[in-house]
Amino acid sequence: MPKKDIVIYPDRVLKSKADPIENIDLRVVTLAEDMTQTMYKAPGVGLAAPQVGEPLRLIVVDQTSGKEDDNLIVVVNPEIVEKEGIRVDSEMCLSVPDTSIDVSRAERILVKGVDLKGSELRIEAEGFLARIFQHEIDHLNGVVILDYASFLKRSIYLKKRKKGKI
Ligand SMILES: [Zn+2]
Repeated sequence: MPKKDIVIYPDRVLKSKADPIENIDLRVVTLAEDMTQTMYKAPGVGLAAPQVGEPLRLIVVDQTSGKEDDNLIVVVNPEIVEKEGIRVDSEMCLSVPDTSIDVSRAERILVKGVDLKGSELRIEAEGFLARIFQHEIDHLNGVVILDYASFLKRSIYLKKRKKGKI
């Protein structure tokens, strides 16, 4: 059973900038494990700590959502240091139910950060994987897919959410 519930927009934690992680202690390792379980259960291909109510710069990514082994990537304090190309594609988000939005993203990126052992990570990603990273890192900066949507689409979502339909 996943230990964490997914926070739904417009919860405040999803609109705030998350804090850098100073020490990778047991709490952070446990959080990463809980997030991974929650992501697989959803199922999803990525999850950021603010989505489980923790305002920390931590993401988990698995573009196969656990269907294939060895695809899980956990990044502490991820940062996009290089971007190349542009591509528009539709995206969904576990924190924004029943909504898909066209989002323009870089086609190729270079992500830097550290793993749970504190070793430096340098990940080159393109296509779908690059899109997931950009989506999850957005969450750490208080940005969700609705921020890329039209005013109309955003207000329809908020109305549905207010009425408890999603
Ligand atoms: Zn999301």
